Amino acid sequence: MRVLVVEDDEGIAQGLQVNLQRLGWAVDVVPGVAGGWAALCAEPFDLVLLDLGLADGDGTQLLGRLRAGTAKPLPDRQTPVLIMTARDQVASRIAGLDLGADDYVTKPFDIDELAARMRALRRRAMGRAQSLLSHGDLLIDPAARTVARAGLLVELSAREFAILLALLEVCPRVLSRPQIEAHLYNWDQALESNAIEVHVHHLRKKLGEDVIRTLRGVGYFVPAQSMESAT
Ligand code: CA
Repeated sequence: MRVLVVEDDEGIAQGLQVNLQRLGWAVDVVPGVAGGWAALCAEPFDLVLLDLGLADGDGTQLLGRLRAGTAKPLPDRQTPVLIMTARDQVASRIAGLDLGADDYVTKPFDIDELAARMRALRRRAMGRAQSLLSHGDLLIDPAARTVARAGLLVELSAREFAILLALLEVCPRVLSRPQIEAHLYNWDQALESNAIEVHVHHLRKKLGEDVIRTLRGVGYFVPAQSMESAT
């Protein structure tokens, strides 16, 4: 999952980046409304963590502009937004929710709770109600970040897990290599040109050659079979 953090408090922003990247997500940080808007127009983010009191304005300005969906170039107006507010900012929290924010946390927040809320928003955005994903004999737990094949746990690296999850979430659609890269890497992360190929190669060795298919010249996909959520 590619996450944009809009936060002007450097300590909070860095803490979020470090902790959320540990969960295997790609996290970019911008300090204000202007930077946030530029980032949303430039990259396909899966979720926005939005502080409200920003140096160059109020986070609700960014939210309103995103949800209005009238600007060009057009970021995805449906992008889930989770607002971060001080405990006493009740009025701005209400304003944010009414403007189209999907959830909120009050500072100081617990990082594990925040991560769980983010996973819930992602599930909802992908139209899933349940937390586990199953596909054939694969069972994926995004919260625990585990994969089992035919009941046996398979060890995946954080990147391998992220690629598998990204492909399963859009199954049977094809993701191009640039789309997978945009999903996995933030601006600061150098990327070897064949990195995705190498990860897919490892995934096939661990999970079986048939799990991820290549559409030559286009990208990768997980073929449709029994793509359904399990309890
Ligand atoms: Ca602030």
